[in-house]
Amino acid sequence: MAYTHNLGFPRIGARRELKFALESYWKGQISRDELKAKGAQLRQRHWRDQSALDFVPVGDFAFYDHVLDMSFTLGNLPERVRHHEGDALDSSFRIARGRSAPAADQKAQCPNGVTAGEMTKWFDTNYHYIVPEFTADTTFAVNSSRLLEQLDEARAQGVAAKPVIIGPVTYLAIGKARDDSDRLALLPRLLPAYVELLNALATHGATWVQIDEPILVTELDEEWTQAFSTAYRTLNTGSVKLLLTTYFGQLRENLPLVAALPVQGVHLDAVNARDEVEALNAQLPAESVLSLGVVNGRNIWKTDLNATLDWLEPVARTRGDRLWLAPSCSLLHVPVDLESEEKLDAELKSWLAFARQKLDELRVLANALNHGRASVKAALETNRSAMDARRQSPRVHNPAVQARVAKIGELRHHRNSPYAHRAQRQAALLKLPPFPTTTIGSFPQTAEIRQTRSRFRAGDIDETAYREIIRAEIARCVREQEGLGLDVFVHGEAERNDMVEYFGERLEGYAFSQFGWVQSYGSRCVKPPILFGDISRPQAMTVDWITYAQSLTDKPMKGMLTGPVTILNWSFVRDDQPRSASCAQLALAIREEVLDLERAGVRIIQIDEAALREGLPLRRAQWKEYLDWAVSAFHITANGVSDETQIHTHMCYSEFNDIIDSIAAMDADVITIETSRSDMELLDVFDTFRYPNEIGPGVYDIHSPNIPTEEHIVQLMRKAAERIPVERLWINPDCGLKTRQWNEVIPALTNMVAAAARLRATK
Ligand code: GLN
Ligand code: ZN
Repeated sequence: MAYTHNLGFPRIGARRELKFALESYWKGQISRDELKAKGAQLRQRHWRDQSALDFVPVGDFAFYDHVLDMSFTLGNLPERVRHHEGDALDSSFRIARGRSAPAADQKAQCPNGVTAGEMTKWFDTNYHYIVPEFTADTTFAVNSSRLLEQLDEARAQGVAAKPVIIGPVTYLAIGKARDDSDRLALLPRLLPAYVELLNALATHGATWVQIDEPILVTELDEEWTQAFSTAYRTLNTGSVKLLLTTYFGQLRENLPLVAALPVQGVHLDAVNARDEVEALNAQLPAESVLSLGVVNGRNIWKTDLNATLDWLEPVARTRGDRLWLAPSCSLLHVPVDLESEEKLDAELKSWLAFARQKLDELRVLANALNHGRASVKAALETNRSAMDARRQSPRVHNPAVQARVAKIGELRHHRNSPYAHRAQRQAALLKLPPFPTTTIGSFPQTAEIRQTRSRFRAGDIDETAYREIIRAEIARCVREQEGLGLDVFVHGEAERNDMVEYFGERLEGYAFSQFGWVQSYGSRCVKPPILFGDISRPQAMTVDWITYAQSLTDKPMKGMLTGPVTILNWSFVRDDQPRSASCAQLALAIREEVLDLERAGVRIIQIDEAALREGLPLRRAQWKEYLDWAVSAFHITANGVSDETQIHTHMCYSEFNDIIDSIAAMDADVITIETSRSDMELLDVFDTFRYPNEIGPGVYDIHSPNIPTEEHIVQLMRKAAERIPVERLWINPDCGLKTRQWNEVIPALTNMVAAAARLRATK
C-alpha cells in the first residue's frame, strides 16, 4: 500500500488572490482581519484541493515567506523589529519589506539587485526568501502559535495534517552571521527550540512532521555533516515521527548519512535523483518510510506515468506500505491550475500539468500501485497518448532547427581577432570620448506605455496605432538622450513588457499561459513563458525599432537583446532534452538577430545575460559543465559579427569572484555590471590579467529613487580607475531604468554626464 502526500502547495492563489489581498492591506484598503480571513480562506481551499492525499501539508502557507515565518517560530528576529510592539504579522512585513517598500517592489525587474541584502534565492529556484540573521549571541525562543493555529484549523476541517517546518541544519545553513561568527555554534541552542516545537505539535495531534533539509543536496563539509547526526539524535524524542525531506537534487556522498539518520522517514527527489532510489531503498532501514518525489514540482510537464510505474513497481514491492509518493519538492514553484487556461490550445494543454493536475497524477500512480494498473487503465492510456503525441509532435520537433544545431560546430565560435585588435578598429569607427557614457537599455515604462500595450492587447487600438505610439516614445527617448549628451544611445525598450517574454513571443517553440504565476517573493509573481519546442526565429524581432531609433540620431544606437542563457533560465523549459540543448537553439535564434542588426548598420549590440549566474547548479562540482555550455551559447550568439561591431553584455549582480574566468571567456567587448553599492571594490576581481576587455561599472543604484551626485559618481569612477585602466572604463547606471520616473532619470543622468566631463578634463 503506497500513500500519497504533498510537500507544499502554492499559496498565492490560482488568481493571485493573496497578492492582491497583501497589496490592498499594505495600501490600507483592507484591515488586518480581512487579510487574515483571506489567508484562512486560501488555506481552506488549498486543503480541499489536496483532500484526496493521505497527508496534507500544514504550515506551508505564509503571508510573505515561509523562511521568515520559521524565524518567527524560532524567535529569531532581527534587532530592528524586536522592539516593535503590535501584531506579529505586521512585524513580519517590516522585516520583509524594510523601510523602503518600493525598493523591494522593484526587485522583480532585476532579481539579483536586492537592495536591503536580506533576500536571496531559495536554492536554485526563482523564489526569494528572507535570510535568517545570526550573531554569536543569537538565542531562540519558540513561538509555536502560528503553526499550532494552522494545525488546529486544518484538523477542525478534517484535514490529514502533516506540519511542515524547515530543519535546523538547513535553517542555519541558509542564514547569515552578521558578525561572521560560526553559525553552527548556535546548534546546541537551536535544538532545544526544535524539541519544544515538535512536542507542541505532538500535543496538538500531529503524528508526522515534515522536516525540510534541502541543504543535503549540496556539498557539505565535515562539520555540517556532523551537525546532521547531532541534530537528529536530539530531535528523535519519539514525540512525533519525522519525515526528513530533501529536494532539488541528488544526495550523492550524503546518501549514507541520510540513510543512517535516526528519523522515521526520508523523502528523496526522485526526479533529480532517480539514480539514487535503489541505493536509498536498500540502505534505509526496512521500518522507515521512503517518500519518493515522482512528479516534478519544478516544471509544468505531465509525468510519464507508465514509465514511472515501470521503475516504481519493484520499489513498491520491497518497501510495501512504507512507500509514500509525492511531488519532487513543494509545488510552490509551479502555477496552480491548468484548467484556468483558456487560451492555450488543447494539444499543448494535454502535455501540461500544474499543481492541481500534478496531485491527480499522484493519485493515479498510487492507485496503480495499490490496486493494479488496470484500476486506472483509462488515466494511464490518456497519459500514454499525450506523452506519445508530444514525443512525435511536429510542433516540438523541427527538422530545420535540428539540422542547424547539428552544424553548430561549423559556425565560427570566436571573434575574428583578439580583443586588443577589435578595440582599435572599434575606436577608429565609433570615435567615442574617454569614459564613454551609456545606459543599460530601458527607459521609464510610463503608465501611458503600459496602457498602450494593454489597449493593443485588448484590441482597442490596432497595430498601426500601437506602433505609432511606441515610435513616439522611442523618439522621446532619443531626444532626451540628445539633451543629456550621452555618448551611446539606447532606444529605451518601450515595446517590451519583459525582457524574456518579448523574445519568447517572437520565437517559434514558445507558449504563454494566462494565469501561470509563480511566487517570486512576497506578493511578487513571475509568469515564466513555456519553452515547449525547437526554437526558431521566423523574422527579425528588434531590427525595426532599433533602426528607427538610429535614424533619429547621429550618435551610435545600441541594439538591445536578451541572451540565450537568461531566456532559458527565466522560462519553464523542456524536460525531453538537456537545458544545454534548448540553450543552443536559443543561441542560434538570437545569433540571427545579432547578424540582422549588424547588416542593418547597427554598430553596437548589447546581449543581456542578467540571469547567467543564477543558473549555476547547486553543487560546485557541476559548475564547470554549466558555465562551459553557457559561455559557448554566448559565443554562438555574439561571435558571428565582424571585428568592427562592438558587443556589450550586461549582468545585474556583483558577485563575480568565482565565475570571473568564464565571464572573461565570453569575450564581450564591453561588460556593464552592478557595482555602485559595493563601492567599486568588487572591481578587484576584474584585474587586467583576468579581465582584459572594457567594463562599465554601474555608478548608481537604479533600485533607489535617490539621485546620485556628480561628486559621488566622480569619486566612484576614480576608485574604479585605480583598478582598471581608464581607456577601458565606461560610465553607466547599475541596470535598466524602466522602474524609474523620468523626473528621477533626467537629474541622475545629468549628473552622470557631468561627472564624465569632469573626469575627462582631469584625466
Ligand atoms: N536591458 C535591460 C533593461 O535595461 C536589462 C535588464 C536587466 O538586466 N534585468 O531593462
Ligand atoms: Zn540589470
